[in-house]
Amino acid sequence: MSFIDKLGDSIVSMSKDVGQKAKEASGIAKLKLDIRIKQEYVKEQYAQLGKVYYEAHKNEDVPEKQRFDKISDALDEIDKMELQILELKRARRCPNCGVEASETAEFCSNCGAKLGVVVGEAKGEDVTNNEDSHPTEDVELEEEPDDNSEWL
Ligand SMILES: [Zn+2]
Repeated sequence: MSFIDKLGDSIVSMSKDVGQKAKEASGIAKLKLDIRIKQEYVKEQYAQLGKVYYEAHKNEDVPEKQRFDKISDALDEIDKMELQILELKRARRCPNCGVEASETAEFCSNCGAKLGVVVGEAKGEDVTNNEDSHPTEDVELEEEPDDNSEWL
């Protein structure tokens, strides 16, 4: 190996050393970020899986029954609080899709269902009749958040 070749090699390896630290640091940072994204993804999948399992077995006497009941109670409370918000906002839920609609809206802005106008004189009469309507939330395991699209 000639002197020039050796010199060239040592210059290359020196600049490699200099760049190496920065490369390692950014490599670690990138990996940590990737790990966090993956962890979030797994967490989300666990949550969706848990929801699917809950929906499928909530009325069964499974070993997780106690946990199911806690979830059911929490969902009921959420439902009640959401109704309170609707009352405070003088709004209501579409009986068809469960989306919030103003008291004066004739049709649902989401699904187009006829809501019927709440007439002032009809106070006390339950013209909205939305007590039993709950928004149906479908769990779609296939649908991935956009952030994780690169992992698929
Ligand atoms: Zn609707």
